[in-house]
Amino acid sequence: MSEPSVFSRIIAREIPALIVRETDRLIAFKDIAPKAPVHFLIVPKTEQYANITELAAGDPGLLAEIVAVAQELADEYSNGQYRLLFNTGPEAGQTVFHVHAHLLGGGLTESTIGF
Ligand code: 5GP
Repeated sequence: MSEPSVFSRIIAREIPALIVRETDRLIAFKDIAPKAPVHFLIVPKTEQYANITELAAGDPGLLAEIVAVAQELADEYSNGQYRLLFNTGPEAGQTVFHVHAHLLGGGLTESTIGF
């Protein structure tokens, strides 16, 4: 069996993180290397799905929960507006193969969002 992902270790409280939301099926916490004033990762507790394509096919309801939590957190920590990003594949910048959404907000500018 493969090692638990870094996100599973955060969920198990083996690695500390600034957790901003937790439900039965999801956790959200601050990215360790934020790229915007608000930069949270929203992560299913299962690491069964490596990326958004697998998640959408396997559990679309869980993907919808990610979007709902993104809006709630943007309402709470940003101005209700946000960018939701799923890097998919190493050449697209994915480094952790346990599906996660990047929630970016809090006054995005060209320099904080890249484009
Ligand atoms: P990816 O590059 O796979 O789309 O995103 C992985 C993200 O996880 C990166 O933005 C990185 O900063 C974040 N990350 C990696 N390790 C940790 C960690 O131990 N704690 C937290 N809070 N974020 C992490």
